[in-house]
Amino acid sequence: DYGPAPEDSSAVRTWLESHAEGFGHFIDGKFTMPGNGFDVIEPATGGRIAHVSQGSQADVDAAVKAARRAQPKWAGLSGHDRARHLYALARHVQQHSRFLAVLESLNNGKPIRESRDIDLPLVARHFYHHAGWAELLEDEFPGAGPVGVCGQVIPWNFPLLMLAWKVAPALAAGNTVVLKPAEYTPLTALAFAQIAAECGLPKGVLNIVTGDGQTGAAICGHAGVDKVAFTGSTEVGRIIRRQIAGSGKKLTLELGGKSPFVVFADADLDAAVEGVVDAIWFNQGEVCCAGARILVGEAVAERFEDLLKARMKTLRVGDPLDKSTDVGAIVHPVQLDRIRELVEQGVAQGAVLHQGTAPEGCFYPPTVATGVEPASVLATEEVFGPVVTLTSFRTPDDAVALANNTRYGLAASIWSENVNLCLDIAAKIKAGVIWVNCTNVLDAGAGFGGYRESGFGREGGREGMSAYLTYPGPKAKKGGEAA
Ligand code: NAD
Repeated sequence: DYGPAPEDSSAVRTWLESHAEGFGHFIDGKFTMPGNGFDVIEPATGGRIAHVSQGSQADVDAAVKAARRAQPKWAGLSGHDRARHLYALARHVQQHSRFLAVLESLNNGKPIRESRDIDLPLVARHFYHHAGWAELLEDEFPGAGPVGVCGQVIPWNFPLLMLAWKVAPALAAGNTVVLKPAEYTPLTALAFAQIAAECGLPKGVLNIVTGDGQTGAAICGHAGVDKVAFTGSTEVGRIIRRQIAGSGKKLTLELGGKSPFVVFADADLDAAVEGVVDAIWFNQGEVCCAGARILVGEAVAERFEDLLKARMKTLRVGDPLDKSTDVGAIVHPVQLDRIRELVEQGVAQGAVLHQGTAPEGCFYPPTVATGVEPASVLATEEVFGPVVTLTSFRTPDDAVALANNTRYGLAASIWSENVNLCLDIAAKIKAGVIWVNCTNVLDAGAGFGGYRESGFGREGGREGMSAYLTYPGPKAKKGGEAA
């Protein structure tokens, strides 16, 4: 499994070739004929790997109609019966996990080790966890019922995992779904739709419409959609909020971040350096909760910088399908340009760059930026790339002030051997998730979400379930049958 050879992608490439004429949408349990749309690329090579359809208003209408038709029967199933469907989805994801991991790495550019060992296990875990909620719903949320039809729009950084975060709780609660994957990375969502059909998910319960922001807007604004769940940029989150204001739709927004990574002088510095690797070089730094601003105690700042730069130089950047790759390809040349532009602006504002190496093409080297002023672009803007700033602080109060000096509030990571200090600082940092002596640890059972411009609402755990429920719920009909 962990041998030196690149992961075998022949099964995925054969599947893609069998769809050479393009992919349609998945509506009412079957795929539509492929229509006009756009090419999907493999960022590591720049090659075209698929063609997907641009969802029109008529496609969105058909998907919402199918979801509305399916919803009462789906909600009428007993919690136990809905759980059985979610368990089946989890098991089928596990059965196809190698295929899905390779497809994810091809399309997104993330290293196969990450898609295979992190994304896919978390996807399955999400469906298993929410199968449990479906079973317990009536006891845990007495009187609650589903919201109805959910319109869900997701980003490209964790394509299948973001789908799982959205779809699993929605279905567990008795809702039906119309989901749009990101235009760069629609392929695992389409493969998942095929899996859902194969494992007998009733038709209309899950509908996938591909397309760009216009398709997303058509879903969010559709009169037949009762709840909108969005993960993506703060900018688009704001547009959606304005678009549906006054419509009575429920809304949750999971947006951007610029999370602090605070290293106190008494921390285990080697562990903290490994933490940085997980915080900002995991997934090429294309992580909403990435630790993008390192704040380090003055007394150890120099030593920490040396350790970090030495570790950075050992990272292998390259072919996502190579099992020894640490940092893969940037998702798309447009995103690569955006990273370069922000870094250039940062340098013009005085930042000094320390970089590893990266091959030619859609790759960006792991980067540490020092000399970054608090108000400068690199300290304030989300880069969404493998770029971290390094700043020192004097006192714990300074650390808190710097950590909170952001319009975001998604996550934070605190490193110290002093548990009292960690607890004190954790309470003072304004962020939805705080990690102590670890980072980017996610679990289906824990609510995840932000403050301020990082959005509102939580995904995962009890809080995540409640976002897909309403009071008073319609009286659930027990003992319904799958369509
Ligand atoms: P994006 O906002 O450009 O796109 C996200 C999705 O929204 C895509 O599917 C896109 O097609 C769609 N979209 C675009 N315009 C729309 C509109 N007007 N109406 C409806 N849908 C529209 O973001 P991105 O570049 O794909 O992803 C990166 C961003 O996502 C980063 O800011 C990152 O922090 C954020 N993100 C947040 C979380 C979180 O949980 N908080 C998780 C992952 C990513």
